[in-house]
Amino acid sequence: MFKINDNYLKLPGSYLFSNIAKKVSAYTAANPDKPIIRLGIGDVTQPLAPAIIESLHGAVDEMGKAETFHGYAPDLGYEFLRSVMAENDYAARGCDIAADEIFISDGAKCDSGNIQEIFSQDNKIAVCDPVYPVYVDTNVMAGRTGTYNPSSDTWSDVIYMPCTKETNFAPELPKETPDLIYLCFPNNPTGSTITRDDLQTWVDYANKVGAVIIYDAAYEAYISEQDVPHTIYECKGARSCAIELRSFSKNAGFTGVRLGAAVVPKDIKSRDTMLHSLWARRHGTKYNGAPYIVQRAGEAVYSDAGQAQLKEQVAYYMKNAKTIYEGLKSAGYQVSGGVNAPYIWLETPNHMTSWEFFDFLLEHAQVVGTPGSGFGPSGEGYFRLTAFGTYENTLAAIERIKNAS
Ligand code: PLP
Repeated sequence: MFKINDNYLKLPGSYLFSNIAKKVSAYTAANPDKPIIRLGIGDVTQPLAPAIIESLHGAVDEMGKAETFHGYAPDLGYEFLRSVMAENDYAARGCDIAADEIFISDGAKCDSGNIQEIFSQDNKIAVCDPVYPVYVDTNVMAGRTGTYNPSSDTWSDVIYMPCTKETNFAPELPKETPDLIYLCFPNNPTGSTITRDDLQTWVDYANKVGAVIIYDAAYEAYISEQDVPHTIYECKGARSCAIELRSFSKNAGFTGVRLGAAVVPKDIKSRDTMLHSLWARRHGTKYNGAPYIVQRAGEAVYSDAGQAQLKEQVAYYMKNAKTIYEGLKSAGYQVSGGVNAPYIWLETPNHMTSWEFFDFLLEHAQVVGTPGSGFGPSGEGYFRLTAFGTYENTLAAIERIKNAS
């Protein structure tokens, strides 16, 4: 008789966004005349930039001719994309990352979930609290997190690093020593960042204790302040302790196109074994590459036209972020984020829980956001709004929230 992976049974409830979807569809069914504005899930709304569309069309035409047809992509990804990333994301920022240290994938969600596979099961993970749920849940599935305590919403073998108002929503070095440290800046869900100097402290710490930092840079394109690093490799010593995850979803609107990359420098070693070799083995065995067409679209992100168009796209979303931030502030809400990130993190009013505030906004403003408690215990009492809607919807949502307050 077959046996299942029991670890899956340990996962509490259903995934945050399915709960939200259920509540929203129940509300819509009961109130078909009340249109909803969604500022919940972090999905983009603007169409792909013209330079990307042009590149996609060109690649599709290539696939239609025998001379230019492409079958399976190389394991690591096409050289044309890896080298343009090495040049623009790293060399241009003074960072030493070679093209063959960049593994092209279909997105940062898969990479952030899969990366734990190359580590021993008894490694201890440290995560920010609140946190992007994928980091924790995939470690639960792998059996690395111990037992779940429903009353505290925590796992016995996970080190939580609270990111609270008191810490400016940034983590502090943990008291207990972790083996794997998940960091994400600019942060989802809080929209916070840390400075280059603060990130250097983490890199120094990881090198000192022999930990690996898994650095999720999915929101790097939204950084507006000078002292916020665009990549962890801006820090000295990061090559020997940090894996960086990149995504094309939010800087270029690829949420439905799918493209990302994991950067695994050859200097990260456990005794004589390079993590790079393990990840190459894993990638080659379990993954057959992002589509040629999509990798050509990714290349266009780095063209002059692509860069100019995407700068405008990011500016569009950041105008929304400002609208939300300032609108809520003027209505008396305590808000943070929104300056280097497309997320606004607000304190729920009148001591409502995160889910109570979710219900309140749905009922009184028909606006959907994300309850902070869905991202971890320290998210309780907070709420996330995203800047990825249209400008018109964002303006309307803020007006509705003001009127509902
Ligand atoms: N990492 C973080 C922190 C995210 O917030 C998201 C998406 O919301 C992802 C990764 C997923 O990125 P991708 O679309 O490249 O899979």
